[in-house]
Amino acid sequence: MKKLAINGGKKVRNKLFPMYKVIDDKEIKAVTKVLKSGILSRFLGAWHLDFYGGPEVQKCEKAWAKMFGAKYAISVNSATSGLIAALGAVGVKEGDEVIVTPYSMSISATAPLFYGAIPVFADVEPDYFCLDPKDVEKKITKKTKAIIVVDLFGQPYDADKINKIAKKHKIVVIEDTAQAPLARYKNKYAGTLGDIGVFSLNYHKHIHSGEGGIIVTNNKRYAERMQLIRNHAEAVVGPKKVTDLQNMVGFNFRMTEIEATITNQQIKKLKTLLQKRIKNVDFLAKELSSIKFLNFSKVRPNTSHAFYVHPFLFDEKKAGISRDVFIDAVKAELMPTENRVGEGVKIVSGYTRPLYELPVFQSLEFVGRKGDKKLMSKYKKVTCPVVADLHYNKLAFHELMHANMTKTDLLDVVKAFKKVAENIDELKK
Ligand SMILES: *Cc1c(COP(=O)(O)O)cnc(C)c1O
Repeated sequence: MKKLAINGGKKVRNKLFPMYKVIDDKEIKAVTKVLKSGILSRFLGAWHLDFYGGPEVQKCEKAWAKMFGAKYAISVNSATSGLIAALGAVGVKEGDEVIVTPYSMSISATAPLFYGAIPVFADVEPDYFCLDPKDVEKKITKKTKAIIVVDLFGQPYDADKINKIAKKHKIVVIEDTAQAPLARYKNKYAGTLGDIGVFSLNYHKHIHSGEGGIIVTNNKRYAERMQLIRNHAEAVVGPKKVTDLQNMVGFNFRMTEIEATITNQQIKKLKTLLQKRIKNVDFLAKELSSIKFLNFSKVRPNTSHAFYVHPFLFDEKKAGISRDVFIDAVKAELMPTENRVGEGVKIVSGYTRPLYELPVFQSLEFVGRKGDKKLMSKYKKVTCPVVADLHYNKLAFHELMHANMTKTDLLDVVKAFKKVAENIDELKK
């Protein structure tokens, strides 16, 4: 008789997993107070005290800067906006090249397009999945202006090596820290490792405010330029006596008082939420270490990982079946997460499709360009073999280790993986 659920056997679990829930009465009270004040956003796109936003926005920026040890924190309405503002602040312009990773959320690679600059893809490290310093160095040309590094899945990028390369070539490092709040590299927090760091507060992240982002930097000029870009720069640069006008066409990237007051509560919870997550990851990795064809991700020496998700590598040769067949069988043993049933069981083969495969690069129909043949052929030929192998064969991750998972929930995850591993012959044809 078949045992595996995917073959008609009984599931390990028949109950939904708990959702990751970080909002409680504290946020409700804080939001109510803002609503009662009648001022939901205090920003004014003019050179005035309110150019820097209302009390909750300013409090949130102070708290964030203090927590992460940065001189300046600039709140925005998303990390996407934050990355665009960061590139504007450093003066990336048409024809400049920006080195990016193909393995991230799309904006980590598309942000340069907003300034007519050219994203140049470099490959990632096979074990930590962040930009590979060796390949980054190979991709540098006279036109390279910046590198956008991503602390993928919560693992800080190789800051010593990449920062050294950047310094040597006088290139700016912009760190996409959306997935790694409070991850550490030596004695510094991720986000403060490069010249500018960008955090996200969307609802998939460790803490959230609905939508939102925070940028950190120690550079006064970048900070001022990002405050301008966030808030209708062109209306302010004159009265503010700013003369460096490059990329000073402003956006509205402002965070509301509501999001800021939620963030002010969320900041206080971040450490505890992260500790629980790390404890759950340690438990799962230990329990599952007996499965020889799974390799729960290594953590870079001298760093701590924030485990946005829990990545692992699958060894097809040792297992005798493909990653996707294995993952589908494990998922069949389990149940989705409450309130996210439509997304299925939160165990995933691969991550984002390598970004150079996106239509925007393959057709080059992006901002300000239409079918540039020379560039198109560049993106058609781009090969990042490590990313391709990770994505299509080896890498998987799960989210069943968040702070609301109980011991019983975690044990069900362990049981599901072990059951499929023990009955793997059922999956071989
Ligand atoms: C979530 C995420 C973003 C975008 O964040 P938003 O706040 O939704 O704009 C950018 N980069 C990475 C790596 C992310 O995970």
